[in-house]
Amino acid sequence: MIGAAATLGAARRAAAKRLSAGLGADATPALDARLLIASALGMAPDQLVLVDDRTLSEPEIHAIDVAIERRLAGEPVARIIGEKEFWGLSFRLSDATLVPRPDTETLVEAALAWIDRTHGRDAPLRIVDIGTGSGAILIALLSALPQARGVGIDLSEGAARTARENAQRLGFSDRSVFIQGSWSASCCPVDVIVSNPPYIQRNVIQSLDREVKDHDPMLALDGGDDGLDAYREILRDLDRVMQPGGAAFFEIGYDQGDALGSLARLAGFEGVIHPDLAGHDRVVELIRQN
Ligand code: GLN
Repeated sequence: MIGAAATLGAARRAAAKRLSAGLGADATPALDARLLIASALGMAPDQLVLVDDRTLSEPEIHAIDVAIERRLAGEPVARIIGEKEFWGLSFRLSDATLVPRPDTETLVEAALAWIDRTHGRDAPLRIVDIGTGSGAILIALLSALPQARGVGIDLSEGAARTARENAQRLGFSDRSVFIQGSWSASCCPVDVIVSNPPYIQRNVIQSLDREVKDHDPMLALDGGDDGLDAYREILRDLDRVMQPGGAAFFEIGYDQGDALGSLARLAGFEGVIHPDLAGHDRVVELIRQN
């Protein structure tokens, strides 16, 4: 309990203290407290300090307590508040979507770098996002590419619905569609294919961080026995779906660069690996061999 904190400022400090005592060493208690309290009060997080002396009502204190207790029980902030920032945009989440990760911005950057080299950002590119989840990758790309259009596909109907809602809220619904289905539902050749498919080896899922294994959907994590099932399925059809002169960008696990390179070569593609900010292999860029 944050106690009968009279003002918002006192509640923020009490909440941060509680989180700091209850969460591990790499926790971010002050930031978590700010995001959770802002959400509980329906305010923008960056406005909170301006109203530090505002008195809180009983129901407000209760709502803050509930959020802090959920955080202390190990739930990620993004799950509690139901949204996560990615590429400077705020994405709604649901049980059916992964929480977008900062590392995945590497994929958006790699795709944009290729577009800058080959087409320019004003080109009317067609994009497919496989396993779109909250729609974060596709919508981030559309936000940087004013003439592009895209299809987001997900096996989960719930994810397709959440992605559609995000496109609507963020103003991209006239340039995007989101459909439930498998990758083969993609109808016609496109210029850019992006995907953050499930790539965790099935037997290591139980050793993942609790914030991941207990709160992210299994369908978005489980990559089969060697973690590569989704890539095999996508590569099988890539030739049909990729427009000549197009490219594909897949997020990969930090240790999957070599394996993906081999799979891609077998399927007739050349792979270039892009590291994330921590220097780990994170994205593979595929173009047709010759
Ligand atoms: N990056 C996620 C993790 O850290 C995995 C996402 C995925 O399988 N695509 O667990």
